[in-house]
Amino acid sequence: MASQGDHGLGDSQTDFQVPPHELSKIQHVVAVMSGKGGVGKSSVTALLATALRRRGLAVGVLDADITGPSIPRLFGLHKRPEFTEFGMFPPLTDTGIKVMSLNLLLDAEDDPVIWRGPLIGGAVKQFWTDVVWGDLDYLLIDLPPGTGDSPLTVLQILPLDGLVIVTSPQELANMVVKKAIKMADKMEIPIIGLVENMSYAICPHCEEKWELFGPSRGAGVAQDIGIPFLGTIPLDPRLTALCDTGAVEEYNGEVIARMQGWLNS
Ligand code: ADP
Repeated sequence: MASQGDHGLGDSQTDFQVPPHELSKIQHVVAVMSGKGGVGKSSVTALLATALRRRGLAVGVLDADITGPSIPRLFGLHKRPEFTEFGMFPPLTDTGIKVMSLNLLLDAEDDPVIWRGPLIGGAVKQFWTDVVWGDLDYLLIDLPPGTGDSPLTVLQILPLDGLVIVTSPQELANMVVKKAIKMADKMEIPIIGLVENMSYAICPHCEEKWELFGPSRGAGVAQDIGIPFLGTIPLDPRLTALCDTGAVEEYNGEVIARMQGWLNS
């Protein structure tokens, strides 16, 4: 089981790792990473959680991108975690996804969180050790963007089974993606695959597919780097609207069905 530290990380990383809460039994821990912010990492995390939940699996989302309010906002979640003598119980979304985020502990959702790397690491560690996740098939981690201190700290703390890398067409040509992959490689974290978000647009009126940035290059780039290509996600105004209104779980794009096969346990 992944949560007991029996995973593929190198020895140098295991020193940092701690077991999860004793009432948590987590089968798979998967982190979602991006080379930079704004490519849709949190949205993809939320969609992936939705897809797995619709498959009937027990899913949690640990928001490690704690400087951005995305995860609770995407799910329209305002409930606070419940504090008990056993630990912190994460609130549930409408479809029963367990979510833990620092934003759920703030007095006002738009309070700024101005924390640096080590403090972020401390909060994420607590979300791992003090939160009663219970039995989960998947715990998805929304990592801080980029390849700096903050995502690195999180990667060192949590025993990951794999990493999904989210990119946008403009970012594909960029070194940032390669840097992210190098970082994962160095830490011996298996890469599940690359996702190209906002790859094409869908007209909300006629559903026509429009390749704004030309034909997708995601598959080619993934092949060059030597990692699996999971697929493309369209830039879909219906998704933006659902994300903005906290209803991401209602999304019915065909990508949801494809996502259900991305993580094969
Ligand atoms: P990141 O986590 O990489 O910073 P977010 O997931 O917060 O990015 O997405 C940034 C914005 O882009 C959000 O408003 C989100 O609703 C929108 N967005 C992301 N992916 C898509 C998509 N495929 N189609 C439409 N809107 C999207």
